[in-house]
Parts: sequence; C-alpha cells; structure tokens
Amino acid sequence: MEVFPGDEVAEEEEYLASDGTFACDGKVYASQIGVLDLDDDECVARVSSPNPPNVLKPGDLVYAVVADIRNTMATADVVAKEGVPRGLGGETYATIHVSKISQGYTDDVSKELRRGDIIRARVTGVSPSLQLTTKDDHLGVVRSLCGACKTKLVRKGKGLYCTECERAYQRKLADDYGDVGRV
Ligand SMILES: [Zn+2]
Repeated sequence: MEVFPGDEVAEEEEYLASDGTFACDGKVYASQIGVLDLDDDECVARVSSPNPPNVLKPGDLVYAVVADIRNTMATADVVAKEGVPRGLGGETYATIHVSKISQGYTDDVSKELRRGDIIRARVTGVSPSLQLTTKDDHLGVVRSLCGACKTKLVRKGKGLYCTECERAYQRKLADDYGDVGRV
C-alpha cells in the first residue's frame, strides 16, 4: 500500500515507528512517500521508498555540461550520476575551481574546459555548493564540439582537433574521450 507523509499507518499499541515512520499520540504516521510494511515479527511499521531522492554526495561520479568559464573556475550543470538512470534531485549547479581541473598546473580555465563540453567529474563537496573535480585520468572532457563549426572534435595527441576547421584545441580530456557511449 502506498502512503504519503502524515498518513496514519498503525496504532502504536500494535506497531512501533521505524524507518520512514514516526509515532505521535499513540499513532504511527508515515514520514515519507513509499510502501507501507507492517512487520508482525518485529512489530514495527516501516515505509520504504522505492525511489529515494537521487541527491549527490562527495565521491559520486557524474556527467555535467560546462556552462560558463570564469577566471578561476568553470561552472557546470550536472545532468546525470554515473550508473544511475534516474534524474537528479537537489542541486545540480556546480563549480570546478581552476586548481581542481587537471593534474598539471593550470592558470587558464579556458585552456582546459569550454562552454558546452560534456565532462565526467567527481563530486568533492556539496556544501555550501556543489563542487567538482576533473583531476584524474578518467575525468575530464568526454565529448566536445568545435566552437566554430559544431563538428564533433576528435582526439589528437593530448588535445582535440576539428577536421573541418583543421584546428587543434587544448583540453583536459578523460582517458576515454571519444570512446564513451551514450552520455
Ligand atoms: Zn570546426
């Protein structure tokens, strides 16, 4: 049975509050949306959520679209958590500080990331705002289009290359740039 927060789910004489429930004045209520489980062995009432909010935490691997390049950081919109098909709950606006972009020394964010790049990154912090790093071989740009002609850039050496404009671009690439499937 699906219940909603505040729904009365049991009498406290029969069941104690547990995960996803709370007791008040002798009654047990749901504290979250989910499926009610009245456990007669342990005499507890639980409400389990089949879809807990998909909120990011430090260490998570995510995909993000670079939104803006500033002096000392890039901003990005996190679009997915690796291995999780569902959409994200909570904050998706993230920043990547210039010192967290590549293993080498960088003082120019625009040499490493560009607006529109799709990156694989790791969450390093969630408070007071979402922070990402691409400072790892497997992290960085996984897909990028030429800023001039929108052709998909190909990997060339340590950077990228537009076959239409015949121009090379510098980037912090993920080790599997170009080999990543549907992102
Ligand atoms: Zn081009």
